[in-house]
Amino acid sequence: MNDWRGIPREKIPWFPTIDAEKCSGCRTCVDFCRNGVLEFDAEQQKARVRAPFNCVVECSTCGRFCPAEAISFPAEKEFNAIIRRLLEEYR
Ligand code: SF4
Ligand code: SF4
Repeated sequence: MNDWRGIPREKIPWFPTIDAEKCSGCRTCVDFCRNGVLEFDAEQQKARVRAPFNCVVECSTCGRFCPAEAISFPAEKEFNAIIRRLLEEYR
């Protein structure tokens, strides 16, 4: 199993969330990410998250490139609190 600083990756809630209402289907995010996190849904003509735990923890690059601002990530404060708790649990 993949881990991040000793924490199983699947325990870490860091991955993009795509707002399908906002997504224009431009594919920028799908083409950009080399980790297989995102895929293009041909039927809906929108991007969707395929493998959330392939996302690099704390990467948010695809979100910065999305012209529709349709991609979001966990809020920093809440995410840091989760990581502190997990580091304590898995150390
Ligand atoms: S970059 Fe944004 S608008 Fe383009 S496919 Fe991805 S989520 Fe949709
Ligand atoms: S945040 Fe980074 S690793 Fe995660 S899906 Fe976007 S580009 Fe890929």
